[in-house]
Amino acid sequence: MSERLIIIGSGPAGWAASIYAARANLEPLCIEGAQTQENYVQGTLPLGQLALTTEVENYPGFPAGDLKGFLKTALDENDLAMIPSVEGMHTVTGPQLMHLMRRQATNFGTRVITDDVVSIDLSQRPFKMKTLGGTSHEAECVIVATGARANYLGIDSEHAYKNKGVSACAVCDGALPRFRNKPVVVIGGGDSAMEESLYLTKFASKVYIIHRRDAFRASKIMAERALANSKIEVKWNTTIDEVLGADDEGVKGVRLRSTVDHDKTEELEASGYFAAIGHTPNTDFLNGQVELTDKHYIRWVKPFRTNTSVEGVFAAGDVADDYYRQAITAAGSGCMAALDAERWLGMQGVH
Ligand SMILES: Cc1cc2nc3c(=O)[nH]c(=O)nc-3n(C[C@H](O)[C@H](O)[C@H](O)COP(=O)(O)OP(=O)(O)OC[C@H]3O[C@@H](n4cnc5c(N)ncnc54)[C@H](O)[C@@H]3O)c2cc1C
Repeated sequence: MSERLIIIGSGPAGWAASIYAARANLEPLCIEGAQTQENYVQGTLPLGQLALTTEVENYPGFPAGDLKGFLKTALDENDLAMIPSVEGMHTVTGPQLMHLMRRQATNFGTRVITDDVVSIDLSQRPFKMKTLGGTSHEAECVIVATGARANYLGIDSEHAYKNKGVSACAVCDGALPRFRNKPVVVIGGGDSAMEESLYLTKFASKVYIIHRRDAFRASKIMAERALANSKIEVKWNTTIDEVLGADDEGVKGVRLRSTVDHDKTEELEASGYFAAIGHTPNTDFLNGQVELTDKHYIRWVKPFRTNTSVEGVFAAGDVADDYYRQAITAAGSGCMAALDAERWLGMQGVH
């Protein structure tokens, strides 16, 4: 049987699309990703990127406060058991927020399959797809909301301190108390590294940019802005040898290694480590059937709409957005995609 709408992905974009589509009686099927070791390593487990973080201070509707009572009434015991308990949190955490979104989507009738879409045929309708678990599905309309993942250097100590000072998003984490009035390091040399560094100067006492070459590849204007900021110091021709820290305190510094004289190392004190070496959108499974940008993000082909190059396929969230990359913008475009999908289905006579 062909579904009317399949939503692929389970971050804020996927759940917002599911909530809107379910409330429009489209009975959507959401394929939320698989619980595999590979997804764990890549950071693409179900519930998306926010499931990897602790506090989310900037999602509207969740001011600081004790959510325990609300969570107990909104979620069931299974959901609650899956949310890591974190002592001393003063606002909603990423996993809590994502379980609430998922619950809101299922409350309205969204059906969920915990699996990865590994191949898809968009050449004719109904669109066909296969999952890692071996099931096949067909749909008249598809919303792709598979998100993106931040790139890290991949060293063990970097992984060990994720959420304990290691981050890939200054806008998300920069204002957290642990970074205020303390030195931090930013890894990279492109425009994002300049932007992240400049943003962090609002909070940190000093921002070191760690760059493996002797010149930035960032645009001239961004590089000049960063270099002119008195709080920013560049460590040219260096790379991260190790992130230094302690289990209880998290990141306490970094050991740098020269890319010119490999025996030369230097230690810097830092409370934060921000990777700014790009993101990888989760678009491989589309196998070139939807037009992508030169950075492999899905291209939105109509201004202020979520249409892709394939009629009946819409995209939402970070998989199509390499610019804002926030939960609220992902959720916003998820809502847009559901409305676009519903109207498009209506025009095909599918209600
Ligand atoms: C550590 C961290 C902290 C952050 N903190 C904040 C914050 O405080 N505030 C904020 O606004 N933003 C924050 N962000 C950014 C925010 O998480 C993202 O902008 C947002 O999650 C994007 O939502 P999305 O729905 O587009 O995709 P994602 O959250 O990336 O979710 C997509 C999900 O789709 C699923 N998927 C992927 N491929 C497939 C497939 N082939 N088949 C089926 N399913 C698939 C996976 O489960 C994947 O995780 C943070 C990001 C990170 C990494």
